[in-house]
Amino acid sequence: MAVLVCGGAGYIGSHMVRFLLERGEDVLVLDDLSTGHRDFVPPSVPFVQGDVRDATLLGCLFREHRVDAVFHFAAFIQVGESMRDPLAYYDNNLQGVLRLLQTMVRHGVENFVFSSTAAVYGEPELVPIPEDALKCPTNPYGETKLAVERLLHWTSVAHDLRWSALRYFNACGAALDGSIGEAHDPETHLIPLVLDAAMGRRPSVTIFGDDYDTPDGTCIRDYVHVMDLVEAHLLALNALRSGRRSSVYNLGNGRGFSVLEVVEACRRVTGRSILVEKGARRPGDPARLVASSARIREELGWEPRYTALDAIVETAWRWHGKRWG
Ligand code: UDP
Repeated sequence: MAVLVCGGAGYIGSHMVRFLLERGEDVLVLDDLSTGHRDFVPPSVPFVQGDVRDATLLGCLFREHRVDAVFHFAAFIQVGESMRDPLAYYDNNLQGVLRLLQTMVRHGVENFVFSSTAAVYGEPELVPIPEDALKCPTNPYGETKLAVERLLHWTSVAHDLRWSALRYFNACGAALDGSIGEAHDPETHLIPLVLDAAMGRRPSVTIFGDDYDTPDGTCIRDYVHVMDLVEAHLLALNALRSGRRSSVYNLGNGRGFSVLEVVEACRRVTGRSILVEKGARRPGDPARLVASSARIREELGWEPRYTALDAIVETAWRWHGKRWG
């Protein structure tokens, strides 16, 4: 039986594919390469370039391959873009899962692991944020992910389908051998931008606000390593395979780091000088987003390994050097 990884050529999906292969799973990738990279997927893995909303294509895939589980990474992920073009986000993020679920139900495929996000919470009332905190997204990106979670719930009430929704906090880092990593275009995430500055690929990094109610005035985020994320996905899948009920889990490091702490870690790890400039707050940025990951630790035994900021940055730097060095 194979695992279908939708979005398997993207940042987290490609790490997932490699991890599944290492664990002896059969893998099949569907990716439209709109943001993914064909060379992130090992040549031995069956690869189909196509749109996850294409019901005909999905039907063919499920007929041709014996699939027992689906991972969904094939979503648009930029908050700002979602504010400018909400219809595109609803179209891709919601319709993609809808088509997949319809096809899974038709073909009797029962296990679904979904990439959700901390953006479902919006401005948190309580930090660390537990899964049952108020969900009030402040942008269409978070809304589409929350809508999918509800869709999963009702689908599993009516059909033989089990699901796990994993709410990532700030995914970061790269494969330990530096062979694949974060490669967005345009890049908007903090760690790759700071490493770009370290490498001289950009003159400086702008700090989006230093007047937040935090110890150094900059925003605090929960940076969770991509290898810890993919390990959590496999734990979630195996729990579903062994009959465990559907569930939602936060995935975070459990510790928060400020923007300035990230910059300092990048200076330590790279040994380079990194120029920072103070800028305005970015609209929609909460001061502090830190996960409570107690549920997945207790229920599935997940234990993140790359929790030290320097260790996280070291893997990202190794990848950055291979990509741009
Ligand atoms: N950030 C920043 N300058 C940048 C990019 C990001 O100060 O050029 C800050 C951003 O305001 C947030 C943190 O870094 O507090 C992480 O942002 P990122 O976009 O990496 O992830 P997000 O928290 O939006 O998912």
